[in-house]
Amino acid sequence: MVHALLHILVPGVVALLFYRPRWQRAWLILAAALLLDVDHLWATPMFDPNRCSINFHPLHTYWAMGNYVFMLFPTMTRVWAVGFLLHMVLDYAECLQLGVLLPG
Ligand SMILES: [Zn+2]
Repeated sequence: MVHALLHILVPGVVALLFYRPRWQRAWLILAAALLLDVDHLWATPMFDPNRCSINFHPLHTYWAMGNYVFMLFPTMTRVWAVGFLLHMVLDYAECLQLGVLLPG
């Protein structure tokens, strides 16, 4: 639950810092990046607190992230790309917390 809360609050902070004066609209789009978690629907079990999303779910792979980076270039998709990459950073941080991505 803390995780979902972070996915709502951190985009709010980013929107406030970088997307003034229209930060509310930016917040809405950045938080909508939570929709990426739709790929959890294909996983069994759908939700596992001890599983690292990065490189497990199709929309959380390095391949997908490469696409998000390309989405940074057109102005039309830029805010979405920032939201998606922010989502990856938050999920990645969770993996570090689990110790999944640590070397060794
Ligand atoms: Zn995720």
